Amino acid sequence: MIATSSLEISSKAYRQNIQYIRSEIGPHPVISAVVKGNAYGHGIAQMVEVAEKAGIRHFSTFSSDEALEVYNHTKRGSEIMILGMLYLEEMEELIRKGISFYVFDFQRLEKAISVSISIQIPAKIHLEAETGFHRTGFDWKDREKVASMLLENLAYISLEGLCTHYAGAESVSNYVRVKNQISRYHEFKDFFTEKSLTFKKYHTACSAATLIFPETILDMVRIGIAGYGFWPTKETYFAKLPSLPKNNKNPLKRLITWKSSVMSLKDVKMGEFVGYGNSYMALTDIKLAIVPVGYGHGFSRLLSNQGQVLIQGQYCQVVGTVTMNSIAVNITKVKNVTPGDEVILIGKQRGKEITVASFSESTQQVNYELLTRLPKDIPRIIIP
Ligand SMILES: *Cc1c(COP(=O)(O)O)cnc(C)c1O
Repeated sequence: MIATSSLEISSKAYRQNIQYIRSEIGPHPVISAVVKGNAYGHGIAQMVEVAEKAGIRHFSTFSSDEALEVYNHTKRGSEIMILGMLYLEEMEELIRKGISFYVFDFQRLEKAISVSISIQIPAKIHLEAETGFHRTGFDWKDREKVASMLLENLAYISLEGLCTHYAGAESVSNYVRVKNQISRYHEFKDFFTEKSLTFKKYHTACSAATLIFPETILDMVRIGIAGYGFWPTKETYFAKLPSLPKNNKNPLKRLITWKSSVMSLKDVKMGEFVGYGNSYMALTDIKLAIVPVGYGHGFSRLLSNQGQVLIQGQYCQVVGTVTMNSIAVNITKVKNVTPGDEVILIGKQRGKEITVASFSESTQQVNYELLTRLPKDIPRIIIP
């Protein structure tokens, strides 16, 4: 069976992105590739392969199921870190597999300690400090209790990391908030150090923090969106722009290309409506190509009468509503289109390009959301 569309994942683009990030952070910090959300839609299996080939040996996931997917695909025994969800009853399996995880409350900390003692394998924990994001993390007032639990059980657990997450590092206007978070983080760090509690890695930075708040770069950076070739926001790009080399004003390269093909052709006479309802009426005689990709495949309904695709190197407008499984595009000006012709939904064709940004601007989805909504069953193909 052949799917109605496919996603190509460029290894070369990924290597270039990692090279750029490395040039920003210097040789010491570990790069953890964040592969939550099915690797931002790129596919966990594919991204583990691509990233390991680019030298990455550390992966971050949101949940335990994603962590196990990385575990099943790693060929280099890479480190795996869970930033978010796991069920307490899974902890033993995770510890046995050497998968590390965030600890942000006493319930999880107690469980990690008790499982470690009972199976005699140290849990690898990353202690998360609450510094202002107000989602997860130990509060400042909990520090004494946390410290004494850690000190009592140091023989059984492994202190892999002390971490936090910034609220709004993607905007320079949040500078004060981020700055306060940085100092609170260092208060935690100093407090634990005074109690002789040291962690293997101190880490706080996501892509945006890494790029525009270099003081957040410590022993490891957790890189999601930038690894996939996107600036976290326009603002982070503009903040970096003056320092980018003249011959390479955008060192972040998109990995993904989304392709389909023409399913069939249709002539529509002036005055006829296209598709459901009356959202589009042909004002002249037009020629349409039907493409077998719709909102059920992640092509938003908001692109009705808005979106564009590339066929034969030319931009073709979506006409009428996006349906569950297909769109109609106007090919009146394109010569010799035949069923089976390549259709580019995101990517380049003969020098023209449809970017994720242009795509998501017309639907008001941010890059992150559009990517992670690409269904898992679209085949992902790694290209060199
Ligand atoms: C998602 C996430 C990241 C990566 O964020 P990007 O903006 O995609 O780089 C880093 N750290 C944590 C805790 C996250 O949840």
